[in-house]
Amino acid sequence: MTALPAHLQGISRVVMDEAVANTPIARRVRDKLPHLTPETLAEGASLTPGLDREDILYLKRYKGRFLRHCPGTSHYRCCGYQIIHIGENCPLRCSYCILQAYFQDRVLKVWANQDDLWAELERAFESAPGRRYRVGTGEFTDSLVLEALTGYSRDLVGFLGRFPQVCLELKSKVVDLSWMDAVRDPSRVLPAWSMNAPFIVEREEQGQCAGLEERLAAARRCAEAGFRVCLHFDPVIHFPGWQDGYARTVEMIFDHLRPENIAYVSMGSFRHMPDLKRCISENFPQSSYIYGEFVTGIDGKQRLLRPLRVEQLRFLADRLRGGGLDRQLYLCMESDEVWRAVLGRTPEDLGGLYRHLMAQAFKD
Ligand code: SF4
Repeated sequence: MTALPAHLQGISRVVMDEAVANTPIARRVRDKLPHLTPETLAEGASLTPGLDREDILYLKRYKGRFLRHCPGTSHYRCCGYQIIHIGENCPLRCSYCILQAYFQDRVLKVWANQDDLWAELERAFESAPGRRYRVGTGEFTDSLVLEALTGYSRDLVGFLGRFPQVCLELKSKVVDLSWMDAVRDPSRVLPAWSMNAPFIVEREEQGQCAGLEERLAAARRCAEAGFRVCLHFDPVIHFPGWQDGYARTVEMIFDHLRPENIAYVSMGSFRHMPDLKRCISENFPQSSYIYGEFVTGIDGKQRLLRPLRVEQLRFLADRLRGGGLDRQLYLCMESDEVWRAVLGRTPEDLGGLYRHLMAQAFKD
């Protein structure tokens, strides 16, 4: 049996709802973690209070909606993609992770009733066959962080092969390409990795994420196999020496990838609700970037002062443009003024962000 990646070796308990105990995901988890005896929860029972740690894997029968709109913000330019909700939480412990403020507990939850997921997706995609969807799984968890245990993304790409109107983004900070050979059409899957300055990766991503070099080597393997990839600079963080750091990361990108290998690159300055700041200061007291010069935006989130934000995002955009990227670049949750100052255009100039990213994803 292949060894589990380091970020999964800390799992010490497995709990499953009785209703999903015989699903393919439950069987795989039992195979991969033979030293753990799963606890079964009867219908209607819930996890005992106190079992809220990230070393617990909980395979759950999920009863909510699987396909949802991204919780963007109405006041800023949002990219309008849809989430396929496959689970919650992540064991990787990036200091800036929004999930620590978003969810009450840190249990690694996986929606194991995939038959319900497939049925919902089938209904949605078949009810509007002419409509295109740009979807992703990396909002409430990392798309691939549990892949070695669950094979979830592999199942998903296999299922979506029937729907050429759907383009799936798999966003991650680990390297797991085990789903690749289940893809029918590489133009409909966009593997994506988070990018940051090397200092931030080392200090704030807590050592269990893949390094930048590994992420980019994986992106290159995907490009060689016919996929286009996405890169996400989010959050861009202000720290002493940020220019050298982000410039180095951009150099590394172009050491591994050509512009035509890249579908799009997002850039978003670090932003947070007050709750997240409290979580970061309690959980990661050495992380000093939260004490920067922030102002409250019209959506209630704290953002770096606009001139500093524009300076950083423009620096990064200019470097990326120097390597041959241009229409692939977009900003997360920024106003038209900031778009203009950073990229010299607004989403309207591109035909609207939603349409533009759809076109980039589907390579129109
Ligand atoms: S990889 Fe993403 S989801 Fe996981 S801890 Fe880091 S920021 Fe959060």
